[in-house]
Amino acid sequence: MIKTYHRNILFAEGNAKLEDSEFAILGVPYDRSSSFRTGQRTGPNAIRESSWNFEPYMFEHSIDLRSIGIHDMGNIDECGDAESMIDAVEKDVRTLLCRGIFPILLGGEHSITIGGIRGVTRPSGLPPEAKEKVFGRREIPPDENIGAVVIDAHFDLRDSYLDDRYSHACVTRRITELLGCENVVVVGVRSMSEEEHHHASESGVSFISSYDVKKDGIDLCLKKVTNIIKPEKLYLSIDLDGVDPGFAPGVSTPEPFGLTPDDVKRIINLLGDRIIAADVVELTPPFDPSGITSALAARIVREIIAVAHLHRRKTGAHGSSQPIKPE
Ligand code: MN
Ligand code: MN
Repeated sequence: MIKTYHRNILFAEGNAKLEDSEFAILGVPYDRSSSFRTGQRTGPNAIRESSWNFEPYMFEHSIDLRSIGIHDMGNIDECGDAESMIDAVEKDVRTLLCRGIFPILLGGEHSITIGGIRGVTRPSGLPPEAKEKVFGRREIPPDENIGAVVIDAHFDLRDSYLDDRYSHACVTRRITELLGCENVVVVGVRSMSEEEHHHASESGVSFISSYDVKKDGIDLCLKKVTNIIKPEKLYLSIDLDGVDPGFAPGVSTPEPFGLTPDDVKRIINLLGDRIIAADVVELTPPFDPSGITSALAARIVREIIAVAHLHRRKTGAHGSSQPIKPE
C-alpha cells in the first residue's frame, strides 16, 4: 500500500493515477543538516511551480509528456529527524520499484539520497513483473547490485559532519557503504577536504572533476564512468551545486568552476538506458530570486522522464503499472 501525501501544487503533467503511472515524483522537503545557506525545504514546490513553464512536447525526443503516466505523490511529511526521513523515503522508493514505477525524488537536502539508494538496493527481491519493468528481464542474481552516478561539486565523503552521519556532507560516503566503493562515481567534483581525498584513493571511490570535464569533454568522461561502474542499472543523484553557480545560483553551497546545464543533459541522455531512479536535490529557493535554478531543476526532471521513458519503451519495460503481487 502506498501512502498518500497532501498535494498542493502538482508537477506539470503529474496528474495520472498512480496505478496508471510509469513515473512517480516524491518531494522530500528536508533541510535540517544544512551547514551554510538554508531553505531547501521549499525546493520541491519551487520545482513544481517552475515545471509549468515548459511545453509538454519535447521536440528533440519527439515525445509529449502528456502521453506518459506521471504521478506526483506530494511531499513526505516525515521530515523531523534524519533517520525517520530516510526510512520514509526508503520505504516509498522500494514500494514504487515493486510496482515497476520509476521514482524521482525532489529535494530537500542531499541527505535524502541515502533513503533513495537504500530503496533501490536488493533488486533481486523485487516481484518478477517489477524486475521485467525495471530491468527488462525477470531474473536478477542475488548478488547483483545497482551503481550510482552522483553529480556534485562536493565529494560528500566525510564519515561524519557536525556530529551527523546523515549530513549532506556524508552522502556519498553512506552511498559507497550501501553499494560498494567500486560502484559509485561522482562527476563535477571541485571541492574536497584532504581527508576525503585520501579516503577516496584508499577505498577506490572514483571521481571525475569539473576540470576533467572541461579538458576532455563530457562524452569522454562518461565513457570512463561506464567503464568504472559494472552494475547494469544506475541511480542518478543530481546535487544542483554540481552545475556552475552562474547557471544554478540557488543552492546551499555554491562552488565556482562547475559543469554546464548541457553537461547534465548529456549525462542523462548517455546514461538514460541504465537509470532506474533519480533525485534532484539542494535547490535553495531563498537564494534563487530569478527562478533560474528551479527552472533548471524542473527541466532536468522532465529530461529524465523523457529519456527514461524512451528507453523503457524500447525494452518493453513501460506502460501502466498495475499493482504487482509480491513473490
Ligand atoms: Mn552533495
Ligand atoms: Mn554539493
